[in-house]
Amino acid sequence: MAVQQNKVSKSRRNMRRSHDALVAANPNECPNCGELKRPHHVCGSCGHYDDRQVVAVSDAVDLDEDAA
Ligand SMILES: [Zn+2]
Repeated sequence: MAVQQNKVSKSRRNMRRSHDALVAANPNECPNCGELKRPHHVCGSCGHYDDRQVVAVSDAVDLDEDAA
């Protein structure tokens, strides 16, 4: 196991952690359905990207059909 040679002061520790903050997501509005979506990603609610449908969306999944 690596053992540190010198104690890290509170100041150095806090200076290191000054870059650790999480940044909030920056969602865009989907031009098709208006839902908020991640930039440069397919819309999760309607499956559109760049004004065309790229992922088919199904409204309901019947799990009983697979079990039979
Ligand atoms: Zn959408």
